[in-house]
Amino acid sequence: MRNLWNDAETSGMTDLDLLVYQSRLVGAEASLVLWGGGNTSVKTTLPDFRGRDTPALVIKSSGADLKTARPEDFTALRLDDVAALFDRDDMPDEEMAAYLEHCALDPGGRRPSIETLLHAFIPAASVVHSHSDAVISLTNSGDPRAAARAVYGHQATVVEYLRPGFRLSKLVGSVARDESGCSGVVLSNHGLVTWGDDPGEAYQRHIDLVTRAEEYAASKARGKTVFAPGKGRRPSSPERRREVAAALAPVLRGLVCRTSRGVLRYDDSPGVLDLLASENGPRLTGIGPATPDHLVHTKRVPLWVDVKDPEDIPDLRDALGLGVDRFARAYEDWYRRHSDGTIPMRDPYPRVVLVPGVGMWTAGKDARAASIAWDMYRHTIDVLASAETVGSYTSLSERDAFEAEYWAMELYKLSLAPGEGPLAGRVALVTGGAHGIGEGICRRLAAAGAHVVVADLDAQGAADLAEDMVRSHGPARAMACRMDVTREDDVSAAFDRARLAYGGLDILVSNAGIAPVGAIDRLSLEEWQRAFDVNTTGHFLAAREAVRIMREQATGGSLVFIGTKNVPSPGKDFGAYSASKAAEVQLARVLAIENGEFGIRCNVVNPDAVFQGSNLWSREVREQRAGAHGIGVEEIEEFYRQRNLLRERVTASDVAETVLFLAGDGSAKTTGAMIPVDGGLRDAFPR
Ligand code: ZN
Repeated sequence: MRNLWNDAETSGMTDLDLLVYQSRLVGAEASLVLWGGGNTSVKTTLPDFRGRDTPALVIKSSGADLKTARPEDFTALRLDDVAALFDRDDMPDEEMAAYLEHCALDPGGRRPSIETLLHAFIPAASVVHSHSDAVISLTNSGDPRAAARAVYGHQATVVEYLRPGFRLSKLVGSVARDESGCSGVVLSNHGLVTWGDDPGEAYQRHIDLVTRAEEYAASKARGKTVFAPGKGRRPSSPERRREVAAALAPVLRGLVCRTSRGVLRYDDSPGVLDLLASENGPRLTGIGPATPDHLVHTKRVPLWVDVKDPEDIPDLRDALGLGVDRFARAYEDWYRRHSDGTIPMRDPYPRVVLVPGVGMWTAGKDARAASIAWDMYRHTIDVLASAETVGSYTSLSERDAFEAEYWAMELYKLSLAPGEGPLAGRVALVTGGAHGIGEGICRRLAAAGAHVVVADLDAQGAADLAEDMVRSHGPARAMACRMDVTREDDVSAAFDRARLAYGGLDILVSNAGIAPVGAIDRLSLEEWQRAFDVNTTGHFLAAREAVRIMREQATGGSLVFIGTKNVPSPGKDFGAYSASKAAEVQLARVLAIENGEFGIRCNVVNPDAVFQGSNLWSREVREQRAGAHGIGVEEIEEFYRQRNLLRERVTASDVAETVLFLAGDGSAKTTGAMIPVDGGLRDAFPR
């Protein structure tokens, strides 16, 4: 591992700046820490609230990420008060958390890391703790003491596995105080702690110890193949593999997200497929997690689902159903065996699902959580391989794993995630999503927590919007795809992308439409047919794909069709438009009738005169409609405003609010309905 410390960059920095610099270097190495894991600290002097110089421990806040560390991600505590705890023999977690609140230099600030005492009890000025893959490979290889002695001699000491908390902190503190010449402690089945006289020294010792573990594992790995290929588990081609994955994903999503909403992430990269194709894969993946920090995200073990033929979709679907049920029963038994009932059981479904020949899925309450589980399991695979070359992979006992997953402090970290919107964990696809009403809908659904697929004929416009939503809401919260709603293959390809990217779909907003103008006696057959291709067949093709996915998931769903005020109240010279949109509404009603028994709802929103950013209201349509109403083209927006009862201009965000209502649980008992968003038009009242 490269030592990235640069003395020129750090000269003149304060202790706190050095700590931030050190933290970012540690955080930048994914094989050291992932997603809020690991922690760093410095002991320094800071003014208290009266300006008096006070010895302080500055430590990463609970849940903060080292990779993106900023000064405000650290919490300062009065060192004397914290260090005084070393004289005790034990302390329950809740008492420790309450005690540390009293030690804060800045009351009401963020909670300090769950490993604060470990840092406080080590007398050195700076401490770094990581979950280094290479070090864990040593400690999870059967005989951690022998492996560590072979690599480190007396430079680092190995301590037995203890759940993070007071007793582990005291043990590590004692080692650091007693053993001369030792610059680090290897925590069995957990990670590495190093210290130094300043953040630079603690970091450099960390990198040194990690590098030696890497070199040792590499020397042991020479000439060995850990994941020896098994027989007949490789699928024919990447294309076929993805076809199978797309067919399975909604079924799996429905199974693992049946009690709480969530999405899946799919991975069929070579490293994963090697593990899945190996003879020893089922045994190795059943042993347990690499480090206790992974447990809340990955659960103790993944679900391994095996069938004879990895292309046999019906057989795979059945095997997934049986596998998930078996996993849930085993989880419930495990919970009952170890729980004293103080923390209720978390959902019993797997977070990592391995299907030989097809790939790996990870599940989470949103794309971020699914990615955390993915990242952690990818690192677990590396650790498995490396530990097997050093010795034979071992993990926490069942009991220790239970205590790690149900450790209140770790669950507290999860609770720090930002509040969730009403559509959190759901996936929506919006056709014609790049502009106008579609854009407003995409933005509103994303703000409500949904993952949004922006489908549009304008590929660039869709990509720009998706990128913008990702900037606002986080990676993988939106994606773009080019889609011509009149082409069957285009439509099914777009929905396949949603199957692979998120595991399925909960909401379809069928919005793409065109507005050809012209009196019927002058309308060409091509124009007439084009209107029906987009405004009727386009909705049919999109809804057909959506309903197929929703039925496979078996968790309900919502289809929202964007109609028009012209359905109840058609307009002159708008024959092709009005007739094709009326057919769309009839289609929506039949969808509601056919899919009610599956909990899939279908409703229509009828907007009127939304001009903002609209491609529908082209120059030609504006001129034509102005002519039809006998007004000047520049008066048209004002004309439409004046003609409604509320005298309101209807905007894309007005339509989006109604779509949000129909997409979400607020309208759970409504299907087959039509809601106008038109400022109130007597002509369009239902009759
Ligand atoms: Zn740790």
